[in-house]
Amino acid sequence: MARNRKYELDLSDLQYKQVRLPWKKTFLQFLLWASVSIILAVIYGSVFENTFGSPKEKLLIQQVENLKLQYSLVGRELDNSLNSLNSFRRSDDSRYRPILDMDSVPDSYRRAGYGGVLRYRDLTGYANSDFLISYRSKVDEIKNMANVQYESFKSVSERSLEWEREMNHQPIICPVEVKFPLGDGFRFREVHPVLGIPRMHYGQDFPVPPGTKVHATGDGKVIESGRSSGGFGNCVVIDHGYGLQSTYGHLSKISVNVGMNLKRGDLIGLSGSTGISSGPHLHYQIDKFGQHMNPINFFNNDISVEEYNEMIQTLASKSKLR
Ligand SMILES: [Zn+2]
Repeated sequence: MARNRKYELDLSDLQYKQVRLPWKKTFLQFLLWASVSIILAVIYGSVFENTFGSPKEKLLIQQVENLKLQYSLVGRELDNSLNSLNSFRRSDDSRYRPILDMDSVPDSYRRAGYGGVLRYRDLTGYANSDFLISYRSKVDEIKNMANVQYESFKSVSERSLEWEREMNHQPIICPVEVKFPLGDGFRFREVHPVLGIPRMHYGQDFPVPPGTKVHATGDGKVIESGRSSGGFGNCVVIDHGYGLQSTYGHLSKISVNVGMNLKRGDLIGLSGSTGISSGPHLHYQIDKFGQHMNPINFFNNDISVEEYNEMIQTLASKSKLR
């Protein structure tokens, strides 16, 4: 193969001889060639990059755009979470707490634990500091609101269980079937039917036939069962808690003992006419913190016999006594 060599005629012997360039010249030629190449490459590269951007730059720009999109989606989710938490807070303050007679959670407590410039000191000094701080503070706000709401709902739940228990213990049903008319009520009697003297009547009488079923009017514990010293004959007294007691007098038969825990609707005995009584009837009495109350204000007789019996059956199905 022919190589790229230069030859010249030697006039002394008329021979072609290879021209040997001095190494310095060769090197300078290389240097010139390399310099031109580099300059051309730089010019080309800078023109190309300025016009179109380098592949790495393009990738980075794409990644930045992608991140911006991701951040905006996260931001939207954060706003949705804040809206949901605010809706929980509104229900909490305007519905659950008022129904259960609970105070609202103070605003200062709901807003405690986030905010303040010093809190985000580590995020200051960057080009996108405002952006980072706004996201971080939103996340902190959500965390705080969620914690406060969790505690609030926990106390609402506990209060509602307590409220349900309290409601179950209130003596709020009629102790005998509602088909029977009401007898003598809570009033001052000029003449007691048996004693014949003026006396206050601290209860509600039900003139029911002997042997009529008598039911506990609320959950509670039997604290008296047997012969009454107060003229009520065979008598049962139930302590309902919350300062409330109910008394059932003149019974012919007693079905419960002292210490028994009763549920509303449980059978406590049968009516009769024992004790100081002018005839068969149930004497029903309610006391609150030692004060005699008018029982008529505690129960609703405006229901049908069928509804009353259905209620007693439903209550009996939940009771442990049967
Ligand atoms: Zn009475």
